[in-house]
Amino acid sequence: MKITDLDYARQLDREDPLGGFRQRFHIPTGSAGDPVLYLCGNSLGLQPKGVEKALGEELEKWANLGVDGHFAEPNPWYSYHEIFNAPMAAVVGARPEEVVVMNSLTTNLHLLMVSFYRPSAERFKILIEGGAFPSDLYAVQSQARFHGFDPAEAIVELYPRDGEKTLRDEDILAAIEREGDRLALVLFGGVNYYTGQLFDMGAITEAGHKAGAMVGFDLAHAAGNAPLKLHDWGPDFAAWCSYKYLNSGPGGVAGVFVHERHLGRKDIPRFEGWWGTDPNTRFEMGPSFAPQYGAGAWQLSNAPVLPMASLRASLELFTEAGMEALRQKSEKLTGYLYELVTSIGADAFEVITPSEPDRRGCQLSILAAGDGELLHKRLMAADVICDYRRPNVIRVAPTPLYNTYEDVWRFWKILEESVS
Ligand SMILES: *Cc1c(COP(=O)(O)O)cnc(C)c1O
Repeated sequence: MKITDLDYARQLDREDPLGGFRQRFHIPTGSAGDPVLYLCGNSLGLQPKGVEKALGEELEKWANLGVDGHFAEPNPWYSYHEIFNAPMAAVVGARPEEVVVMNSLTTNLHLLMVSFYRPSAERFKILIEGGAFPSDLYAVQSQARFHGFDPAEAIVELYPRDGEKTLRDEDILAAIEREGDRLALVLFGGVNYYTGQLFDMGAITEAGHKAGAMVGFDLAHAAGNAPLKLHDWGPDFAAWCSYKYLNSGPGGVAGVFVHERHLGRKDIPRFEGWWGTDPNTRFEMGPSFAPQYGAGAWQLSNAPVLPMASLRASLELFTEAGMEALRQKSEKLTGYLYELVTSIGADAFEVITPSEPDRRGCQLSILAAGDGELLHKRLMAADVICDYRRPNVIRVAPTPLYNTYEDVWRFWKILEESVS
């Protein structure tokens, strides 16, 4: 059988140990009444069917108990956020106390920079990947300005070499070394949203620390997608959203990691609120902040239980499947997509995501040679849900929880027809 045979894809699906997870998601319906070809989990993950029940339980608790829901089993609201420590830590390779679920991603980046971007007149620069997600760039620019620095001087954006589409690992490390004792913070993506490049976070952390800088990662496109070992790699902090690969729903509650070495320290400034205090003494309503031990000390407000309920349902699937098995399938699924798409061999596009599996997550970024917007329209007309990002890239992300090898095969067929 050739990889271009539909039966080849169907055979892979039959052999897929994670194949059963697809039926636990709602798959949107396309124009012909069939399920769409959903390759957009990098933007908004699909809804797990368990979400309705998880949400319903909290709505019912609220309806029946009112304020007493805070202490009613199961899953009392007072400690609802604690449900996530263990499963979220497993997703990002952290210890449970190093992780907390709160707020939204950009908000958390700011809160973490309050603690870990503390520039001095000599050491004030932030190194960030060129072409980072705009919100990250706005966040670091405004942080620099907040501390009285000119972003044009303080922010160093690192771009690929001329004629290349992704960054070389050695160039990232060289840039860190070059900035040296001017560097206050390295803030990198785990996976770049535009190119799909997965960075060597362990090496970046080591180089950043060697230069005397703090190191943080934005894992929006890495959490639930790429293998992560935050505790062992040792960055100072990380933040990620949960509505992309983690399927928590639009605007879902975000994740935060603070490395163990910073937990319980009194010399780190932080913006504080009552939910960061020790839960055992919180209701003594005392005048001074008594921080809890762990990343939870960075919490400000009481937990938004309703959006958290959908995250709970979603993370149960990750716990059940396991990140290792998910990654195994993901490499195979995206590898299959890569082989098929590059076999088209047309001049119509170029895959700019690295070809090596350990330098990418599940997303492939297809740079159109001509009118990418038109190509995207053709794909959408065939009920493919993927997205187009300026200047000219179509991003496709088969996710191991709910996409099939047949999905990938069908996408290849439609792409081939669309470019010919
Ligand atoms: C999706 C994404 C965001 C979105 O930020 P929100 O605060 O969740 O709106 C930010 N940064 C990166 C790198 C992203 O991929």
